Amino acid sequence: MELPFAESYKIKMVEAIRKSTRKERELWIRDAMYNVFNLSSRQVYIDLLTDSGTGAMSDLQWSAIMQGDESYAGASSYYRLKEVIREITGFRYFLPTHQGRAAENVLFSVLVKEGDIVPGNSHFDTTKGHIEFRKATAVDCTIEEAFDTEAEHPFKGNIDLGKLESVLTSMPREKIPFVIVTITCNSSGGQPVSMENLRAVHKMASRYNIPVVFDAARFAENAWFIKQREMLYRDTDIRDIAREMFTFADAMTMSSKKDGIVNIGGFIGFRDEELYKKASVYNIMFEGYITYGGMSGRDMNALAQGLIEATEFSYLQTRINQVAWLGNRLREFGVPVLQPFGGHAIFVDAKKFLPQIPKEEFIAQTLVVELYKEAGVRSSEIGTLLADRDPVSGENRYPEMELLRLAVPRRVYTNNHMDFVAVALNNIYERREDIRKGYKIIREAPIMRHFTVELEKA
Ligand SMILES: *Cc1c(COP(=O)(O)O)cnc(C)c1O
Repeated sequence: MELPFAESYKIKMVEAIRKSTRKERELWIRDAMYNVFNLSSRQVYIDLLTDSGTGAMSDLQWSAIMQGDESYAGASSYYRLKEVIREITGFRYFLPTHQGRAAENVLFSVLVKEGDIVPGNSHFDTTKGHIEFRKATAVDCTIEEAFDTEAEHPFKGNIDLGKLESVLTSMPREKIPFVIVTITCNSSGGQPVSMENLRAVHKMASRYNIPVVFDAARFAENAWFIKQREMLYRDTDIRDIAREMFTFADAMTMSSKKDGIVNIGGFIGFRDEELYKKASVYNIMFEGYITYGGMSGRDMNALAQGLIEATEFSYLQTRINQVAWLGNRLREFGVPVLQPFGGHAIFVDAKKFLPQIPKEEFIAQTLVVELYKEAGVRSSEIGTLLADRDPVSGENRYPEMELLRLAVPRRVYTNNHMDFVAVALNNIYERREDIRKGYKIIREAPIMRHFTVELEKA
């Protein structure tokens, strides 16, 4: 008999989690204005709100914490991290920041100005926020297959070279500060970008003399998919794949809360010393001195070790198999899920799940609230709330897809937890026709409203 797949680690420390009753949850979610960000974690049994900063650190990371060097300037922890980043990404220069959006804030302060256009593959919400905050425009150039939830394409994060070229030719060079490639592409479902596409995008951008920036939060998961799905790389080591990926970028921003497997942290990587020096000024202004940015020495140590672990094949296999486990269970139940499965999350197609809810009543959010009430499982909405309003017209932007995202924290839950989540969703699926109404907004912020929006029943 072939040995079954099993995790590449065992558990050394545990944390209790608490179940609740349906009655309790109905009151809690009403008090939270039907926004799961307003729930206390004590009111949640299984928390799949995000895989960001929610991972479990290893014994080696915790021991690295104890060795943190808290010197203000030139701490050994800084050099340790610099060494690992250089080893894994090839970038010679780096700036630590407190998280990914801080890296965007610092880098975009140098590069993005009013009226600019920033093409990319489905920009992440904070990325888009930092672009639009500077009165510039993010243009989505993702391939069309990404918007078809049933299309079986191995690299749904890819950039459509035709779309990209038409943006690059429609604008004067100085209006396009860079092309941004998000790996894996979070907003289109944690979908990977192929090495072939990274190479082609870089080649095209170079022809127009435009730099390429990677939003690299899940670069290790992207490397794993390249190894699985791009024939040429089947026998290539994950770290070699990662390093080759980064040869097609001129700079990178990183949310270390994802593939750094730490609870807080981020950085910017640069090839060009001039750009690094310009960004250093903003880093000092917004984050901290250039050798710690927004991080303590101990955090930089934990991140250095986390990057090493995140690029190990056995870890990635455990991680991505667990996400697929959840996806397969849902598929067996007939629940409509996005395919192929992403690296960090499973996405439920809420439009197919609840076709009776009008888009004005926030279809995906309606399902998020149902799942919480059903089983105390916290998920997130990737739909109209997240898409915000059009900055010019002020109208709601209705995205092509309304998704419920089940983001799986790294090394935190067992496959039994995944089964629990799948059964909870299936229970709702079986009674889906009884859900007749969605929600309406009573209060919202002008930008990134999904974090704080207040809702009531429609
Ligand atoms: C999380 C994330 C960010 C922002 O990082 P934070 O650490 O949350 O500030 C940017 N881009 C992508 C693709 C992300 O997933």
